[in-house]
Amino acid sequence: MMPLKVEGLQTFYGKSHILHNVGLTVNEGEIVVLLGRNGAGKTTTLRSIMGLTPPRDGHVKLFGIDATRMSPYQVAGLGVGYVPEGRKIFANLTVEDNLRVPVARPGPWDTKRVFQTFPRLAERRDNRGRQLSGGEQEMLSIARALLLNPKLLLLDEPSQGLAPLIVKEVFQIIQTMRKEGISVLLVEQNVRVSLGIADRAYVLDDGAIIYNGSAAELANDEERVRSMAGAS
Ligand code: ATP
Repeated sequence: MMPLKVEGLQTFYGKSHILHNVGLTVNEGEIVVLLGRNGAGKTTTLRSIMGLTPPRDGHVKLFGIDATRMSPYQVAGLGVGYVPEGRKIFANLTVEDNLRVPVARPGPWDTKRVFQTFPRLAERRDNRGRQLSGGEQEMLSIARALLLNPKLLLLDEPSQGLAPLIVKEVFQIIQTMRKEGISVLLVEQNVRVSLGIADRAYVLDDGAIIYNGSAAELANDEERVRSMAGAS
């Protein structure tokens, strides 16, 4: 069953028409990247899928089920993990308590496995969220989503504000997740690095899809990559 199929999304914030007929798919085991300059509508697309900002028109299908009018909680229950922009971890809770917050779904990811995969989080398990570096906070945010044992993971700008070495580490983790059968929809400003790990890419501009194709092909289009990277 196709993890994600989005068709004809029309999403508004009040009277502002933000998404114009957005359509995209994520096939099983794929990493798909959604690119576009600031304000293009990338976050709004993820919010529409999650049911946080429901579309006025269009359809969201998750694993063959119509999820267009579902609540975020119901969408998560279908096996969709969401790592929002800015991490949204609990600053006053310890790492360990942050990981207790999600209602874990049965599967290969449990706290033990999370600590093996992110040894730095294990070292800092008694530290509070606010004491962590940006990279550690991002890992905590991803770890929390993994405890839901998602089949599809939506990641909003995981590389934001991270040093290049940490970005590499986070992207390696995303590739590991894919190997385990988690499909990924990745929103990124980091054009080159994300095209390097993605199978396919979409580019949003002013709320409409202007590119839909292979990530490798887009990566070879130097001019286009430069214009997108320059815009971020
Ligand atoms: P960024 O990289 O800056 O996060 P983005 O591509 O994710 O950009 P969105 O956050 O989806 O873009 O924003 C798309 C448009 O919607 C922007 O013009 C933004 O100003 C507007 N917008 C976002 N959130 C709201 C809101 N809560 N109310 C009104 N307008 C909003």
